[in-house]
Amino acid sequence: MSVKDEIKLQFPAFSENEGFARTAVSAFISKLDPRVDELADIRTAVSEAVTNAVVHAYRKEAGLVYMTVRILKDRVVSIHIRDKGCGIEDIEKAMTPLFTTAPNEERSGLGFAVMESFMDTLSVKSRAGAGTCICMKKKLAEKE
Ligand code: ATP
Ligand code: MG
Repeated sequence: MSVKDEIKLQFPAFSENEGFARTAVSAFISKLDPRVDELADIRTAVSEAVTNAVVHAYRKEAGLVYMTVRILKDRVVSIHIRDKGCGIEDIEKAMTPLFTTAPNEERSGLGFAVMESFMDTLSVKSRAGAGTCICMKKKLAEKE
């Protein structure tokens, strides 16, 4: 994996920072001149991952979200979003579309499905009590 460029950010798990995370990723990868639809997909996936850290990982507790964005060779963008929150006991179940542990908070259980469909790869590592790390990648189309 050859890393051509990288940023690391950490910010408090406030919902107000979801927009910041989206914008930071967009600004960083803008040098690759992504297509509008590619950028929209990446922004949406980042929002879903950060929202999960805010609403599920830390609930109403304070905590930090750690985000690493890398530009790899061949126009691949890799994004890690990590929290040190409650963790996920059963990852497979959590990733099942429509599964949510917060049905009373108007959650639809589609965040992971969105990340999976908008990005090329999604991997989730988590340990109950320790936190969760989401890694997703997308290869941008070659420029003509
Ligand atoms: P939606 O994203 O549609 O608003 P949701 O957040 O419940 O609803 P997903 O994003 O697919 O749906 O997540 C499914 C479930 O996985 C969550 O309900 C939650 O139980 C668990 N989960 C997801 N991310 C985390 C995380 N970072 N920490 C702890 N639990 C998580
Ligand atoms: Mg979600």
